[in-house]
Amino acid sequence: MVPPENTPGKTPAKTLFQRIIDRELPGKFVHEDNQCVAIEDINPGAPLHLLVIPRKPLPRLVDATAEDQALLGHLLLVANRLAVEKGYGDAYRVVINSGADAGQSVFHLHVHVLAGRPFRWPPG
Ligand code: 5GP
Repeated sequence: MVPPENTPGKTPAKTLFQRIIDRELPGKFVHEDNQCVAIEDINPGAPLHLLVIPRKPLPRLVDATAEDQALLGHLLLVANRLAVEKGYGDAYRVVINSGADAGQSVFHLHVHVLAGRPFRWPPG
């Protein structure tokens, strides 16, 4: 799959999040390991709003395969650990938008971790 920000035939551009991971753009890091990083969202939707981002630049969740099973599990465990460490273990929300119509705007898979206010269901 060709990420939307890339043009077929050209060297694939780095995603915005890849550039943050590579320290080419600023980011407030709250976690790093060999598989993923977590940063504060630049436009938080709640008192806690983190993004857990795999180093592997999968564009969308729909692009993941069985090969990514352990990585996807790791992302959720990191999301959980961070929510608990930040004091929000009782109530937090994890969101993955997959595809533009689902609200995805950055085509490098990421897990939103939101907490610190009441949330409604279904989300808008
Ligand atoms: P999406 O809409 O793709 O599910 O989520 C993308 C998220 O990335 C949004 O919540 C948006 O606020 C956040 N974001 C966009 N640009 C930047 C940036 O340059 N730095 C950080 N830390 N977050 C960003």
